[in-house]
Amino acid sequence: MRKHIFNAGPCKLPDSTLENVSKAVLEFGNTGQSIMEVSHRSADFQAVYEEAVALFKEVLNIPEGYSVLFLGGGASMQFCMIPFNFLKTKAAYVNTGTWSTAAIKEAKMWGEVEIVASSEADGFTYYPEFTIPSDVDYMHITSNNTIRGTEIFYDPTSPVPLICDMSSDICSRPVDVSKYAMIYGGCQKNLGPAGVTFVIIKDDFLNNVVADRMIPTMLRYKTHVDKESMYNTPPCINIFGVKETLKWVKAMGGVEAMEKLAIERADMLYAELERSKVFRPVVKEGSRSRMNIPFLLREGYESLEKEFLDFAKTKNLVGLKGHRSVGGFRASTYNACTIEDVKALVAAMQEFEAKHI
Ligand SMILES: *Cc1c(COP(=O)(O)O)cnc(C)c1O
Repeated sequence: MRKHIFNAGPCKLPDSTLENVSKAVLEFGNTGQSIMEVSHRSADFQAVYEEAVALFKEVLNIPEGYSVLFLGGGASMQFCMIPFNFLKTKAAYVNTGTWSTAAIKEAKMWGEVEIVASSEADGFTYYPEFTIPSDVDYMHITSNNTIRGTEIFYDPTSPVPLICDMSSDICSRPVDVSKYAMIYGGCQKNLGPAGVTFVIIKDDFLNNVVADRMIPTMLRYKTHVDKESMYNTPPCINIFGVKETLKWVKAMGGVEAMEKLAIERADMLYAELERSKVFRPVVKEGSRSRMNIPFLLREGYESLEKEFLDFAKTKNLVGLKGHRSVGGFRASTYNACTIEDVKALVAAMQEFEAKHI
């Protein structure tokens, strides 16, 4: 029986993705070969790649003048590639949690980093307001903080190239891509299986590369743009999975429909956290992510953590253990998470409450 999956990443994927990837593992189209066996340069695989790019452009309404890449290395590799390519003297970062902290650490190897805002002193429990300086090479933000559960829901206007880590909320709302020089993320939260990273990069921005720096071929964005992600062997099966998930997003009504469902799921769970006498929310109102919802036990009930996780398991709810840096619980409610999954969680929380008050 399929569980109610609240994993933070890798995470729940649509049934159609699982079914169609499974079929392609046994036989990819009519090729007589598995998707794991076919050449990445074959016409059949090229068609998969092109469909994935075309669907991404369509679903996210990516304008002309941008390239889409599917690379290896994870979002974490982007943390180093971005400053390696584009940090000449100074870059600005907003520090909103573990992932931005990791991005900042890499940037500091290549130049000065100005932290324009941080919510660290408050345990990253809100998304800080920020202004973007005009004297930096680029500005970096993290739109959704997977571990802390904070998110911004708008696309900032920036006087300098704006770069956003959208690993964990890509395709969960419409985005004005034209506001960004680059959007990137690991695919394993909203787009497909782990092992492939998406990069949406404005072609003009490639000219901002630090000219007098030796950058290894594989770490240069231009290498991958010029070769359309085929400079080396791309993660083929993962790209197939992304294509299937984007097909599903489109069939469901696109990012507008994804946003509506995301709001419905998050509102339902947050309403329960506000009401509950046993559980409480962590993140301040106004910053609450629709994708990752951390929660704790209220005062007097703190000792029930393991008991709730065990109880949740008996209700087929998995992936609710909080990140080790926050403790408690976290429900990740990405695109493929259904209203029924959230209803099952709320019902379990209420049954658990009734047993303990
Ligand atoms: C998961 C995550 C990452 C790290 O992604 P990897 O693909 O594992 O390197 C970076 N940023 C955010 C916001 C994430 O959620």
